[in-house]
Amino acid sequence: MRDRELITSETACPQCGALLAVPHQVDTFACTHCHSSLRRGAGIRVHRLFERPRVTPEAAAGFLRGWFASPAGPSDLEKEAVSQVDGLHYVHFLRIRRRGADVVMPLAPLPAPEVLDLGGVPAQLDGEPPAAAEDAAARVIPIDEELLKEGLRRAAADPDVDDVLVERRAYYPVRYTYRGDRYTAVVEAGSGRVLTERRPARREVLGERRVAAGAMLLLFAEAVLVPGLAARVVAIVVTAAGLYPMLRWAVARHG
Ligand SMILES: [Zn+2]
Repeated sequence: MRDRELITSETACPQCGALLAVPHQVDTFACTHCHSSLRRGAGIRVHRLFERPRVTPEAAAGFLRGWFASPAGPSDLEKEAVSQVDGLHYVHFLRIRRRGADVVMPLAPLPAPEVLDLGGVPAQLDGEPPAAAEDAAARVIPIDEELLKEGLRRAAADPDVDDVLVERRAYYPVRYTYRGDRYTAVVEAGSGRVLTERRPARREVLGERRVAAGAMLLLFAEAVLVPGLAARVVAIVVTAAGLYPMLRWAVARHG
């Protein structure tokens, strides 16, 4: 298995970012890519880490149902959504550990936008890849070597970098339809968290529009019904002052 061979003593060339296996028992060696001469211990250490999925496919479907039922979405989402949870997937991220903030970047074109968020969710990672049998059913999204090289080059050029991790993360892709629209999501395989970029809006929006329309009607009625110009102006100003924060809130929420 390729991953297993790459676990120990990998180094990124500080000149070109190429990933190198450091030969044993030598003090200097040449980068196989750019041919610059490297000292043993120079370059950035690269570690491979693997997430062991702890959420089964059945549990993933359960976490999704729980998320459908949560009050953040429409109240009939659980009943109306038609969903499909795909099998276990693995995707790789490069984590550049640096003084200051880590930089995390995906190492493959992302099959769905929420997969990007996986890189930011903490996980239990292990230096040993799972046994091949455990992985048999999983789909591994291959590392894009150009993205890896670019990330390592970036890390090599940054004096604040301590080391670099290649993290393999586990998730279940989700597709679902709700009232004719298609959505994607990801169930993270470490804790069952549901990650999503776009979700159906709560339908209470309609009710909020009705409140806003009612407010306009109230303003109009005051203008017509309150006797005396001064009293009218005061009434309208007072009503508008009370409504303004509510309308602003509604606009901020729904655009
Ligand atoms: Zn090189």
